[in-house]
Amino acid sequence: MSKISINIATGSIEKKKVILGIDLGTTNSLVAYVPENQLNSEIISINQGNLVPSVVYFDENALPIVGASAKAKLIESPERTIFSVKRLLGKNYNDVRDHQDLISYQIIDDNTDSLVKVRVDDRFYNPIELSALILKELKKGAESHFNLEITQAVITVPAYFNESQRQATRDAGKLAGLDVLRIINEPTAASLAYGMQEKKNGKILVYDLGGGTFDVSILTLEDGVFEVLSTHGDTYLGGDDVDRAIAEFWLSGTGIEFNQLNNLQKQSLRLFAENAKIQLSKDVFQTVHVNWNYSGTDHEFQLNYQQLKELAQPIIDKTMKSVHQALSDAQISVNELNEVILVGGSTRFPEIYKTLSEVFKGVHINNQLNPDEVVALGAAVEADILAGNRKDILLLDVTPLSLGIETAGGLMDVLIPRNSKIPSRVGREYTTSVDGQINMKIAVYQGERELVAENRKLGEFILKNIPAMPAGLPKIEIQFALNADGMLKVKAKELRSGVEQDVEIQPSYGLSDQQVEEMLVSGLTHAQSDIELRLNIEAQNEATQMIYTAERFLEKNSEFLTTEEIQGSKQRIETIKGLLDSNNRHEISKAVETLNDFTKPFAERVMDIAIAKALKGNDIANL
Ligand code: AMP
Repeated sequence: MSKISINIATGSIEKKKVILGIDLGTTNSLVAYVPENQLNSEIISINQGNLVPSVVYFDENALPIVGASAKAKLIESPERTIFSVKRLLGKNYNDVRDHQDLISYQIIDDNTDSLVKVRVDDRFYNPIELSALILKELKKGAESHFNLEITQAVITVPAYFNESQRQATRDAGKLAGLDVLRIINEPTAASLAYGMQEKKNGKILVYDLGGGTFDVSILTLEDGVFEVLSTHGDTYLGGDDVDRAIAEFWLSGTGIEFNQLNNLQKQSLRLFAENAKIQLSKDVFQTVHVNWNYSGTDHEFQLNYQQLKELAQPIIDKTMKSVHQALSDAQISVNELNEVILVGGSTRFPEIYKTLSEVFKGVHINNQLNPDEVVALGAAVEADILAGNRKDILLLDVTPLSLGIETAGGLMDVLIPRNSKIPSRVGREYTTSVDGQINMKIAVYQGERELVAENRKLGEFILKNIPAMPAGLPKIEIQFALNADGMLKVKAKELRSGVEQDVEIQPSYGLSDQQVEEMLVSGLTHAQSDIELRLNIEAQNEATQMIYTAERFLEKNSEFLTTEEIQGSKQRIETIKGLLDSNNRHEISKAVETLNDFTKPFAERVMDIAIAKALKGNDIANL
């Protein structure tokens, strides 16, 4: 397939182009590119730094600041400084509830399956918008570096990201004005940075230990193509835990508890601990001395390498357990491995290299590149490959346009994004939105616009005879399988009952190259406004669902509710209804949250009555 480069702002075809490789990290983000006629990638310095902290601060006027200046606000304005957005991408409230104590800003629980939102003052931001702000900053920095408008990028994601997290990352790119040519796995990017693709075949272990996350992935490389065989890890394990262990070790002799410190004190002690750790990693024979002032009293702390090693050992042990799990999941024995690659700042700690070289005797451990930069450097190599600049690398067949189905509000839900390798197979679960729904229409579309009405319809069918169940209970899996001849098989199956239905379509039938190009240009020129529209429709869908649930609840439980509770709820439902067509998602979200806050206390009370009744032998499902 030939490659064309399109200016996302004007829709015109460009000649000269730079495709960015972006590591959109939990803590920091980086951008890299491959200079013309070179093979190695370079990090682009943005605002005088290689790392851009993935932090967004909103001032009183809701104006965002991103990067180092935002990070500086973390202590002074924690409630309006958003960090670790990547942890929220594609997540609903139930997924993040357990870790909420680590977060200083407000996360909204509206009691639905919908994605989390962050509230700052009266505005509601979803993680896609927040990630887009970070990507915009990176794009802007790169543009001023090259003095050139840049519209294309490859973005990396963890290997364990699911489809909706990948889609969220792609949407964030769109919203930032970037045409995301491909989303690639971080361990694959690290392998590309080390030039593994030139070896054509092999088995690679990528060990990635950062500040707050750990993951290990096993990849195979066959004829230059990478595949992730297994991945394991802990999204809450990293160098920060070592810093915390050092801080607690120091405090153990003082009678002060870490948790009794205020934010500023915690932060200063953590920074001392982190610095001591980094110094000892560089010179293992020294003893680090620290003078820490707490409420007017000076405390003298010390740390040597042996002590650091003992404090870090439980963390290293946990990572090694994951390493063995990943190997066993991939059904690979230690001696089958050809290469180990180290990623993440914490792999600079010499014990990591030592432990891995003991376990993988004789295997080459790649740690020559900067472990903070290796993922971005590899993303840039992928960008260079996609640009067709590497003659030795074969570009695989890809699907030129995205394939998806219509969901609530006429939105396009992409199952196979454009530029996906062929063959490709994806499955996603859906459910019903109305009680007792027995039929579901599956309409298949092709194109890059957010509304199906603007895309090309490929066909539709109806999944019939779904057993009547309450809304949200049926599990309907839609599978897209695009085979090597470009045939698309779409299958819908209700998993509880097993009813299924399928259809086969040829997406390229009746479509000329010229039309494909026009559809791409149309998608790109409308990208930002389309995503805005999508966010509004999603807020409307969520509000409609909330109204449905609340009205049903009032109807069924009126005997347990006071007149004020019923009237108050109805009033708030009316407010939401009045806002539904306003296209103002902040206002809609605020109204939904108001209703939710109002109903929460008595919803819980009714649940208690339900449980009490159930214990007496009544049927809980009827409440
Ligand atoms: P990352 O999330 O990949 O940027 O990694 C950041 C983590 O690496 C932080 O926990 C740092 O304290 C840690 N780190 C950076 N340099 C070193 C070093 N020389 N030795 C040990 N840990 C380090």
